[in-house]
Amino acid sequence: MTDALVVSGLTKTYRGAGRGPRVVAVDGISFTLAAGGSLGVVGESGSGKTTLAQMIVGLAEPDSGTVVIDGRDRRDLRRGRRARLQRATEAQMVFQDPYGSLDRRLDVAGALADTLRRHGTPKDRIARDVAALMDRVGLASRLANSRPHELSGGQRQRVAIAKALAIDPTVLVLDEAVSALDVSVQAQILTLLDEIRAESGVALVFVSHDLAVVGQVTDQILVMYRGRAVETGDTDQVLRRPEHPYTEMLLSSAPGPRWQPERVAELRAALAAAT
Ligand code: ADP
Ligand code: MG
Repeated sequence: MTDALVVSGLTKTYRGAGRGPRVVAVDGISFTLAAGGSLGVVGESGSGKTTLAQMIVGLAEPDSGTVVIDGRDRRDLRRGRRARLQRATEAQMVFQDPYGSLDRRLDVAGALADTLRRHGTPKDRIARDVAALMDRVGLASRLANSRPHELSGGQRQRVAIAKALAIDPTVLVLDEAVSALDVSVQAQILTLLDEIRAESGVALVFVSHDLAVVGQVTDQILVMYRGRAVETGDTDQVLRRPEHPYTEMLLSSAPGPRWQPERVAELRAALAAAT
């Protein structure tokens, strides 16, 4: 079977501000994700997670390396964008703040209809598809005519997920998609994502600074530190027995049973000394 997503040697450097040094935001990241699989990408702010996510969905151009979705190189996908047949083999992104990505003038049904229309859904199928999408992400039909400001943060994120699912993507990339939500709402969205993955076989790339959140929704984890993958493996294994001191530091710095501020300081000093 073809893998949903194969990322090979992705690298991206940003020019520093003014005469500042160049920043290697992402440095040779590779991984493979099967259909229906889920990968968590974790690391502190600035570790390169968003840049990696942007390259996967085509919002940033890599300096080198390739992104292959459903057996097709992303660069060829772009060239074939006009061919509507290819629309199903794409990756879609869900951002932290759907307020920014949702049109304030459109209600829920309008926003979904707009997305479907733009991807070539025939007119006579739109109403039905809108209802199906709302149902799929757990939005009550009475919300069809609500606009973004009338929705809760969790409901807005459900709309953003529905929009991303509208074209039936192979890969769904979520960048800090639950980071702005209350813990109980986070749990609801994570459960929803897991259901969607199981039902549709969409592959999830779940990006978060929060290792505990990532652990709830993914079966593989990739830990990024300064643009590099310092550790990858099964989620259980990485959470229970981290091999890299940076992973241990992330685990020890989160509130919860692993919280060890003194250990964090110790590990941070060791990491700084090593580079
Ligand atoms: P994360 O999402 O893990 O916080 P980012 O991918 O946003 O990490 O950033 C990685 C590094 O690349 C940081 O040092 C950041 O300052 C830099 N960076 C990200 N985007 C840009 C950009 N558009 N221009 C210049 N530098 C950038
Ligand atoms: Mg980020």
